Amino acid sequence: METSPARSNFIRDIIEDDLRVGRHQRIVTRFPPEPNGYLHIGHAKSICLNFGVARDYAGQCNMRFDDTNPEKESEEFERAIAEDVQWLGFSWDDRYFHASDYFEQLHDYAVHLIKAGLAYVDSQSAEEIRNARGTLTEPGRDSPWRARTVDENLALFARMRAGEFADGTHVLRAKIDMASPNINLRDPTIYRIRRTTHHRTGASWAIYPMYDYTHCISDALEGITHSLCTLEFEDHRPLYDWVLDQLPVPCHPRQIEFARLELNYTITSKRKLHALVHEGLVSGWDDPRLPTLKGLRRRGYPAAAIREFCERVGLTKKQTTIDMGVLETCVREDLDANAPRAMAVLDPVKLVIDNYPAELVESLPAANHPKNPDFGSREIAFSRELYIEREDFMEDPPKGFFRLGPGREVRLRYGYLVTCTHVEKNDAGEIIAIHCSYDPATRGGNAPDNRQVKGTIHWVSAATAVSTEVRLYDRLFTIPDPGSDDDFRIHLNPDSQRVLPAAQLEAALADAAPGASFQFERLGYFCADLREHAPGRPVFNRTVTLRDTWAKVQGKRD
Ligand code: ATP
Ligand code: MG
Repeated sequence: METSPARSNFIRDIIEDDLRVGRHQRIVTRFPPEPNGYLHIGHAKSICLNFGVARDYAGQCNMRFDDTNPEKESEEFERAIAEDVQWLGFSWDDRYFHASDYFEQLHDYAVHLIKAGLAYVDSQSAEEIRNARGTLTEPGRDSPWRARTVDENLALFARMRAGEFADGTHVLRAKIDMASPNINLRDPTIYRIRRTTHHRTGASWAIYPMYDYTHCISDALEGITHSLCTLEFEDHRPLYDWVLDQLPVPCHPRQIEFARLELNYTITSKRKLHALVHEGLVSGWDDPRLPTLKGLRRRGYPAAAIREFCERVGLTKKQTTIDMGVLETCVREDLDANAPRAMAVLDPVKLVIDNYPAELVESLPAANHPKNPDFGSREIAFSRELYIEREDFMEDPPKGFFRLGPGREVRLRYGYLVTCTHVEKNDAGEIIAIHCSYDPATRGGNAPDNRQVKGTIHWVSAATAVSTEVRLYDRLFTIPDPGSDDDFRIHLNPDSQRVLPAAQLEAALADAAPGASFQFERLGYFCADLREHAPGRPVFNRTVTLRDTWAKVQGKRD
């Protein structure tokens, strides 16, 4: 599936206008993750937007790690983020940057602000600073250190940099306006002391710049034209502009905000994702139930389906929550077109065809994609003993059940018509084998006399089938908005993962490449697990069911 052509939106309108009037010759955007966690579906929206805009207007999009918080950041996160962006299908070419690449310049600009009387060293404690900040209705109070002289500030800032002071003893603040109605402009902190090593700059720095100060300058240094960010930064825009207005930066990018992507039945807060992973509530960052890109990938979601989803949900200024079903629809559409078909039995019961020769194994042709002959066909083994799905047989079938039952005839997909003669049970009364007779004239599944056979079921040959672990996934949470509750853990769905230890697959599937996707006929889309699937031990994950059954199931549960 090709991602559909970009739909217009308010950001594209602004960009087209800027190009038309010649405000910019070339569009430059950036994707600025903090390397303090793994990317999730919300980040995909920002990636698709920033890289997509650059692609569509023949511009460029920079990869930039916003690495100003050394305690929480790491090389591992950075690597995983870079991999995910590439997996989503985007490239930064040689424009792979870090805010830490600019630490020296950021520092020099801070000195510039101090010299211009626009920044001062405050020696209050964090709590004192907080208490003097005021509220939405009350102005803040000036710091007793606000009137320090330029020389005093320069000397103290140099000593902060040299690592002479303990964490938290001083900060550098922009001198703006403690009475501003916008709290972000009440002398925001722009540097703090953290005598800790950084995963890229090592022990070179004892002070680190704050996000609001760093981001706008990094944008300007890279010649970003449009700095696209989420709505929570709207109130920070005056600060973004203030910093750039005071400094001799090469350009002044325009910040534009858009609504975050929120999905129901899951969480995208990094803090909560960290909690799920570190408390062992999921198996890791790539647990197929997580909305992380690593998790979605392992679940079998194609990158193209995620890109299409990001296009489809569009871009607005109004916060909404998108139904998980929308994402699943994109996944289904992609896999319907691209996944070859195969047969698998999840909950097997033996079917014995008593009039089929015991030693005979026939090879029957089966289409790899009934809607697309380009996929070709394969040969599947047919023999006297098969496995079928336990739920495809009923001893006392109700009206409307067209599958197998005593005395009934069904079509074995690509095989023969078979009629049930009797069943075999164990002492506990459970069915251990269903006995049938087959009609040799119906090879391929059609009766020469065109007699009506309503039911078609899937099967695999018992002699050649490969026993496999299959994992069925469901929503990770039981309520639509688990993120709204601090105690989100109590809403975890206990049935979000079901492991079937002994599903039976067509033999060829054991050789599937890790990550390869298939439609198991009548059952859904499945992929070979990226991490654990191996030829000797196949493991498949259900990516998504064939149809959206969620709404119906929910109705029943209520
Ligand atoms: P943090 O609270 O750590 O800042 P974050 O989710 O904003 O978390 P970043 O690494 O700062 O993480 O995000 C990188 C970029 O992705 C930012 O530009 C951010 O605005 C964007 N982004 C993050 N979450 C979403 C989301 N749910 N929808 C759209 N964009 C998002
Ligand atoms: Mg952020």
